[in-house]
Amino acid sequence: MLRLISFDIDGTLECGHPPGLIPISIVRQAKALGWIVGSCSDWPISAQRALWVEHDIPVDFAVGKPGLENVRVEMAADSYVHIGDTEIDRMYALRAQFDFRHVNDDGLEEWLQELGLTHFD
Ligand SMILES: [Mg+2]
Repeated sequence: MLRLISFDIDGTLECGHPPGLIPISIVRQAKALGWIVGSCSDWPISAQRALWVEHDIPVDFAVGKPGLENVRVEMAADSYVHIGDTEIDRMYALRAQFDFRHVNDDGLEEWLQELGLTHFD
């Protein structure tokens, strides 16, 4: 099962402003599992790319929120999910035919662990 997972940054990842609940180690593990992984954030694309270079994670995409639709069209996967912290995230995710998970939902960590993403630390 080839999964594609998109992460918002601010309020979602630990390196966001404000920090979110998802550690960078989860992003790294998703890549290691062979998933298609990237960020979808209000950060400029260049800043998103710099973040991933800084953490040495070769992500597959880095887009603004409206760019999620292009990711959906251009990257073939069996499932698509965007994790974010706002209703704007939800709107763009659903518009792009992604599933949406709110980072602060009860059970998010358990859901990720069921998918094989266990590197919460
Ligand atoms: Mg956010």
